[in-house]
Amino acid sequence: MTGNYTVLPPLQSAYMPFMQAIQITTTGGPEALVYTQVARPSPKRGEALIAVEAIGVNFIDVYFREGRYPSSLPFIPGQEAAGTVVEVGEGVTTLKPGDRVAWCGTLGTYAEFAVASSARLVSIPEGVTSVQAAAAMLQGMTAHYLAHATHTIQPGETVLIHAGAGGTGLLLTQMARKLGARVLTTVSTEEKAQLSREAGADEPILYTQVDFAAEVKRITENKGLPVVYDSVGKSTFEQSLSCLHPRGMLVLFGASSGAVPPFDLIRLSALGSLYVTRPSLKDYIATPEDLSARATDIFRWLADGTLNLRIEHTYPLKDAAQAHRDLESRNTTGKVILQP
Ligand code: NDP
Repeated sequence: MTGNYTVLPPLQSAYMPFMQAIQITTTGGPEALVYTQVARPSPKRGEALIAVEAIGVNFIDVYFREGRYPSSLPFIPGQEAAGTVVEVGEGVTTLKPGDRVAWCGTLGTYAEFAVASSARLVSIPEGVTSVQAAAAMLQGMTAHYLAHATHTIQPGETVLIHAGAGGTGLLLTQMARKLGARVLTTVSTEEKAQLSREAGADEPILYTQVDFAAEVKRITENKGLPVVYDSVGKSTFEQSLSCLHPRGMLVLFGASSGAVPPFDLIRLSALGSLYVTRPSLKDYIATPEDLSARATDIFRWLADGTLNLRIEHTYPLKDAAQAHRDLESRNTTGKVILQP
């Protein structure tokens, strides 16, 4: 007691009804990411409330911020994080408060607390930190399905991976090498070429300085490639097609430079009976079995050192706008993380 007042112990933030978060009320540029106080969510039936410890920033967050991918307003962006369960909703039997979990694919992670369906939460094993888990879930499982399922990389194949020093690119390069491929990558700077080499790339190509399709022809002695992994989109699509040998596959999995314009399918015949696919992670982790299998592989490879993460860009949550600016202006390498 002091005077007539009782001094109460500070409330644990986990029990406060409010939280700090990034909210988007109008879609647009990085300035649309506003750091503010909002109501803390409560877990509904089948859900868990998680105290967020690390948030993964992904290019898809840019598409949501711009409104290219629609969401009802206002919303909290972000769809990858790791943290500790603080409360579970009715019917949740597989998790309890205190469990360490990671997840991706549910909007609302740019915040101190987030809710997610318990069915989409993956336990983080010993030996893997929350930052590593948040850094590896989305890009790691993406690299996993691209290399093992969309096109199953065979030993001895030569493959091309665009944006080889990006978050997904570095992980996909490591997996392709692990599967026995010879890896060509594209990168915009010499510094990024070095990072790509360290991840295992045999030949990083500076696609801002040379014609990468001509380089691929030279390196493969005009044979072409069985597969090109293209996340850059608009500025690389046409040349990516010309890198393939007959019946090769263009895996268009992103649009960092912009959306590919409409395309006449008859051209695939003239170019050598090519395949083009536009895959999405959600379809490769749709079942609990697929989600568990991919996440288990990623966490195991992180824990045993098979997979190396580069996490050189960590920002406080309030600086999410700067993180987006850096990601979009090609200033980042590897994974970008926000911390509440
Ligand atoms: P990255 O870390 O790869 O960042 C994007 C990189 O793209 C840049 O660093 C840059 O590398 C390259 N780039 C080329 N042209 C441009 C441009 N005009 N503007 C900006 N960047 C450009 O990001 P992520 O790993 O998070 O994502 C990579 C891509 O993969 C995104 O398009 C994303 O949407 C997609 N993706 C798709 C998934 C799916 O399942 N379909 C899942 C996960 C990601 P450089 O400077 O070397 O050119």
